[in-house]
Amino acid sequence: MNPFTEQNSNVDIVNRSGILIKAVKILAAAFVLISAFIWKIPVAARTCGYWTVREAIKTYTIVCTMGMEKLTSDHFYVKFRPANRADARLVLETAEYFYRPVVEDFGYNPRGRVPIILHSSKEELNRNFGWEANESAIGVYYSGVIRALAPQSWIDDRDPANVREIFLTAGPMAHEYTHLMIDYLTGGNYPRWFTEGMAQYEEYKLTGFRLSDQTGVFGCYTMKEMAENFDGLSNQPLAYKEALAAIEYIAGEYGEKTLHSLIGSLGNGMTFENALQKYLGLDYNGLEKCRRG
Ligand SMILES: [Zn+2]
Repeated sequence: MNPFTEQNSNVDIVNRSGILIKAVKILAAAFVLISAFIWKIPVAARTCGYWTVREAIKTYTIVCTMGMEKLTSDHFYVKFRPANRADARLVLETAEYFYRPVVEDFGYNPRGRVPIILHSSKEELNRNFGWEANESAIGVYYSGVIRALAPQSWIDDRDPANVREIFLTAGPMAHEYTHLMIDYLTGGNYPRWFTEGMAQYEEYKLTGFRLSDQTGVFGCYTMKEMAENFDGLSNQPLAYKEALAAIEYIAGEYGEKTLHSLIGSLGNGMTFENALQKYLGLDYNGLEKCRRG
């Protein structure tokens, strides 16, 4: 990685927005938590509440990028710093490249252009989420907005054709756009492992890229561990690998249409466990046994 930061007034805008976005996130998390426990609230009202909060956070996030430049395509727009104009074009072009196949696979067409925010360095990207500087994400989806690390900051190649090819096949756009699809189709009603498994599944399908060849990824996590505490699992590459394996198992044994049936039921407010029982006739333990068996 080769972080490259801009020295201009936009840095302050991003810093301020990071703090405010954190405050909005806390409010949103509290709202979602409360909604989940108040079972008397009808599903439609909960879904409507989630949509409202997500769209509010999305709007606020975009307002905070007012000092940045903007490029627009048919289905996306990207906010970026002047020095990242070439990267912004590549990001937009790549997003459009994956738009049609992802929309066709999920049968859903998001209304309006999807915002993408381009970050010059991983430090800048991580700061927006309060992550450690050594976090190495190259893309993040949160609340209707895709954030991407500028390709030139993590692709160690100066040939534009190579950069383009690497960003297309190993970049974050197909993965993050899939997260957006799952979020919009389910109204936020999904387990973390499921959206990570789906995003990797779609990414592999469209680009051939997968994490599973990483060295040091041995052992296994149970479905229960993944369901209860996906983000807290200490070996994240392993957790991601297990999430993909679970999705591949469901797709292989029951067909991709079952994955979409699960997503449809989540969108109707069903819990993941009930949807699993409905379409696979299994609970998490049963899925675990079938997968390992
Ligand atoms: Zn992901």
